[in-house]
Parts: sequence; C-alpha cells; structure tokens
Amino acid sequence: MADIFDKIIAGEIPAYKVYEDDDVLAFLDISQVTPGHTLLVPKKHVADIFDYDDQTAREVLLKLPILARAIKASNPAITGINIQSNNGPSAGQTVIHSHWHLIPRYDDDNLNAQLAPTIDHSADFTPARYQEIANQIAKEMEAGK
Ligand code: 5GP
Repeated sequence: MADIFDKIIAGEIPAYKVYEDDDVLAFLDISQVTPGHTLLVPKKHVADIFDYDDQTAREVLLKLPILARAIKASNPAITGINIQSNNGPSAGQTVIHSHWHLIPRYDDDNLNAQLAPTIDHSADFTPARYQEIANQIAKEMEAGK
C-alpha cells in the first residue's frame, strides 16, 4: 500500500519541494521543528535503513551533504544542522518509507542539542512562508549542482 511519501513522490498530495532528481525527493517536513526542516527520501520504496540496496544508499546518502549545504546557505541565521533518521516504530519512525530529517539549528532556537523531530510548529507556518523557505533552499540546490 502506498504510504504518504509515495503519494508526495507521485504528486498525488502536495509538498513544498526543494530538490528532485530521478532517485530522490527533498521537501519541507510539515512540522518544521525549526524553519527549513527538510526530509530527504528515496523515490524507490525503501522501508527503513535496513532495507537499502547499495545503489539506492549511494544515490540518497550522497545528497545529504549537498542538501545540508544548501539549507545552511539559504539563511545566514542557520549555524548548524541535525541530521536524523528514525528506523522502526520503536525508534520513533511513523512513516514507513525511509527518510532523513535535516533540521537547521539557530543560535537562539532554544532546543536541546539532541532532539527528536517530534515538535510540531506547523500552526505557525502559512503556505506563503513554507513556499518562501522551500524556494530559498531550492535556489541553493540549483546553485550547488
Ligand atoms: P518520523 O517520525 O517517521 O521520523 O517522521 C515522519 C515525519 O513526516 C514527521 O516529522 C512529520 O511531520 C512528517 N510528515 C507526516 N506527514 C507529512 C505530510 O503529509 N507532508 C509532509 N511534508 N511531512 C509529513
């Protein structure tokens, strides 16, 4: 059965996309733990870290530093980034389609250094604000190609 990320990949439900190629899609996490919180997912259905073949791992993981640099470059207030992947329900995985959280950090974000991406700030974000953030990151991805 198609999960929510399969539907985003298929264009059946909308997302604020920041990068797409044949193998991966990156889009804003709806919860925005901090502004710019992005998910990187393989287009191929991979359930979790245990389910990757080598080729898919190369395609996805190579994009992590490139995407991290684009996110950092998108906003001068971003001074760090947490990258996290939850694998298996016991580890907090709620969408069973492998994904990598990239959570920008700000000097004044008042979050613990270690954080689980379970904080939901979506009520603070309008469609225009999501789009503005997505555009800034997408622009940096384009520049960094
Ligand atoms: P997990 O808990 O599996 O590590 O993370 C799942 C993430 O998917 C959560 O951070 C949640 O906010 C995000 N998410 C769930 N549904 C949607 C959706 O429909 N659109 C977007 N953009 N993010 C979603």
